[in-house]
Amino acid sequence: MSSTIINKTHISVAQNASGRHLNVPIYEISSGMDGPHVYIQSSIHGSEVQGNVVIYHLIQALKNILVRGKITLVPNCNPVGTNIKAGEYTLGRFDPVNGTNWNRGYYYDEQSVIEFANNVSETDDISDIRNAFKAHTLNKIIEKKQQPWGLGLAQQLNLTLQSISSQADIVLDLHNGPVSSRHIYIPEYLAHQANQFSMPHTILIPNQFAGALDEASFCPWWTLSDHLGARFGRDYDFNIEAYTLEMGSQEIIDFKDGEKDACSILAYLQHKDAIATNTYQPQKMKRLCVYLKDYKTLFTDFGGMVEYSAQPGQLIKKGETLAKVLNIDDLDNQQGVKVIKAPCDLIPILHFPSASVLSGTQLYKCFTQYFEIN
Ligand SMILES: [Zn+2]
Repeated sequence: MSSTIINKTHISVAQNASGRHLNVPIYEISSGMDGPHVYIQSSIHGSEVQGNVVIYHLIQALKNILVRGKITLVPNCNPVGTNIKAGEYTLGRFDPVNGTNWNRGYYYDEQSVIEFANNVSETDDISDIRNAFKAHTLNKIIEKKQQPWGLGLAQQLNLTLQSISSQADIVLDLHNGPVSSRHIYIPEYLAHQANQFSMPHTILIPNQFAGALDEASFCPWWTLSDHLGARFGRDYDFNIEAYTLEMGSQEIIDFKDGEKDACSILAYLQHKDAIATNTYQPQKMKRLCVYLKDYKTLFTDFGGMVEYSAQPGQLIKKGETLAKVLNIDDLDNQQGVKVIKAPCDLIPILHFPSASVLSGTQLYKCFTQYFEIN
């Protein structure tokens, strides 16, 4: 009778000015059975902390579940980002040294995938191709990390994490929006999997790399599969999946919601045969979906103090009020309050967290041209 074993180690993901290594824990959970390798990390953006409590609940649940394959959990994977405070706020989105987004420095090189694909022969077994491609990717990541001119702080940290995640079959990156509904980024080829998560809002993303972990995890396999398919005229399904889950608002830890989020992930893992149980089911819910091109950012043209009238998840019609902006130079006349109206029918998914905004602030991100997926 097998049982579940949790193995905890630490890796250094950065070094501070005093020379101290900043370590993060890695929890590896397995039961000595065969199955997919799952990788889950949280808080690459330092103020997006809810994923840590989700991982806590996952570990508690997994103690009593047999794991097929292996589940690797890296909570609070960015100890630099978490500790950059300015008064009450965590400035966790950008590497403070170089200004780069902490979720844009992962590795992907389309050309190297095509070169790899050109060396595959028609008779090669799909699992051999998979293993060889994982080894190939890991070598490239190590090569990139060791290149003689060095790399910025965020990219070094990203590549250290990716040297682990790139060996997984399933990658989940746990984030939060500023003030946000729960939503998930799913690559278009996995649109059918939206039903396996208890997420009301889904953004479908194309095979385009902008530097994020989910893209760095699925783009290479998508490109490889397309390229081999075109060469040999048949389907290559490597069964690799990667998602970014946005679990509500940043700067909040909610244990109860965290348990629900963990159950949502466990239902998906059960569906993928990564865990040996039938306890978990995705919630019955209406799931709305957009293509990335229809996920619009609304900027404000003027500065001021904002009331966010439209809430995340609310259905808003064209012309309805999204926000009111107070202009303190015009409190005695008609210009004191400017109303920002919806340019089309939309659903706000998230909004800026602060009431004080400069002109050019991303006020809302919205679903437009959305449709139901089920
Ligand atoms: Zn984030």
